[in-house]
Amino acid sequence: MQKGRKSNERFDDGIYGSGDLSRNAPKQKFPNQERDPRHAYAIVHDELMLDGNSRQNLATFCQTWEEPEVHKLMDECIDKNMVDKDEYPQTAEIEARCVRMLCDLWNAPRPEGAVGCSTTGSSEAAMLGGMAMKRRWEASRRAQGKAIDKPNLVTGPVQVCWHKFTRYWDIEHREIPMEPGRMLMTPEEALSRCDENTIGVTPTLGVTFTGQYEPVKAVAGALDRLQETSGLDIPIHVDAASGGFLAPFCSPELEWDFRLPRVKSINASGHKFGLAPLGVGWVAWREQTDLPEELIFWVNYLGGNMRDTALNFSRPGGQVVCQYYNFLRLGKEGYRKIHDGCYATAQLLAREIQQLGPFEIVFDGQTDAGIPALCWKLKPGAEAGFSLYDLADRLRCRGWQVPAYTLPANCQQQTIQRILVRQGVSRDLAMMLVDDIRQALDYFARHPLAPSLTSEEASGFHH
Ligand SMILES: *Cc1c(COP(=O)(O)O)cnc(C)c1O
Repeated sequence: MQKGRKSNERFDDGIYGSGDLSRNAPKQKFPNQERDPRHAYAIVHDELMLDGNSRQNLATFCQTWEEPEVHKLMDECIDKNMVDKDEYPQTAEIEARCVRMLCDLWNAPRPEGAVGCSTTGSSEAAMLGGMAMKRRWEASRRAQGKAIDKPNLVTGPVQVCWHKFTRYWDIEHREIPMEPGRMLMTPEEALSRCDENTIGVTPTLGVTFTGQYEPVKAVAGALDRLQETSGLDIPIHVDAASGGFLAPFCSPELEWDFRLPRVKSINASGHKFGLAPLGVGWVAWREQTDLPEELIFWVNYLGGNMRDTALNFSRPGGQVVCQYYNFLRLGKEGYRKIHDGCYATAQLLAREIQQLGPFEIVFDGQTDAGIPALCWKLKPGAEAGFSLYDLADRLRCRGWQVPAYTLPANCQQQTIQRILVRQGVSRDLAMMLVDDIRQALDYFARHPLAPSLTSEEASGFHH
């Protein structure tokens, strides 16, 4: 008899007839004994049911559906460590190919001369891009015999990773606040915050809060003029977490990438519209000289030398392999078809939700203006009888997660609600969601709420 097994338990007990499943599983103390793997699996698997259905999570930008071949490759790559370039040379080669393909996709003047690497996501990529900006600025200040103690970074209303970057690395963050009617960086607002201590300007291609693209080309033009008049040469790093895998396929005319000489580096999330499984991002620099030597660790690779630029050491390789699979599998044509479908669905959702009555659309998923997402607010002055938090709460009864949140400074008073349309949010699912929103409105009409849920009471996460 196994230790810990009661005398009336047998090896062939049904899973839910076993002792393991009829006791509380340990939650605080490190367990003493082993369990049957089927039992441990059932315990963990069942608990995860309460996470909800990720496909109905319309808050996330990340992938929640993958082809069976991706699942298979992830399984086959469970042992691949990205850091062991010598031990897994083909995984390293696949990463290098992805970097070359991305530099080509983002129109690097000489894709063979551009450099980059995979990361765990855009956050790590942003740290690396930001560090490179800081080091380049320091080098140029030192060369002029000037102080390097007051670096600043100019951004629009950004994702939290840039707050982390500036705080962790002691950089003054000059974040352009939103104003009613202006929710993005403009060339004028960016320029007015630039000075000799500005390490760079970071526009976002697909702002977290609304999904809109910031005007990279116009900002680059303004910085060109600043250089002519003042001599200040301020680089751009584009946070293209979402847009980097959308604009090249769906808005190829939009100039936001290395076609603009002032754009020195770009980050993007492979696990968002790159369609790779969770855990991969990318950063690329226009030329080798844009990545300062101090950030590079040279590692041995099949007798040769290879660049290693990363915050992490060990890191799973499957996501990078699957990114390559996606590039091969889909090509530009495949990415365009999938993303165009998402844009069309987002635009349709915007029209349908507009027609429901109480809502005003803030962004409607227009292809060249942002990502396949939409967001809306309650019509000002309308006595809707419910808040967007109430609506989010009601939709959750049907499994939908449609986040409501307040905008950042200086629009903190404004609550909006957002839907991200990504691979797997099909037309049919979208229309079922509209039906459920309609039913929620009927419900609120029949059961008026007083008082409504507040931002603090409502659940939800929207980054
Ligand atoms: C998602 C996102 C990030 C963070 O990216 P991760 O891949 O989640 O680390 C940064 N910036 C923007 C604009 C984003 O949308």
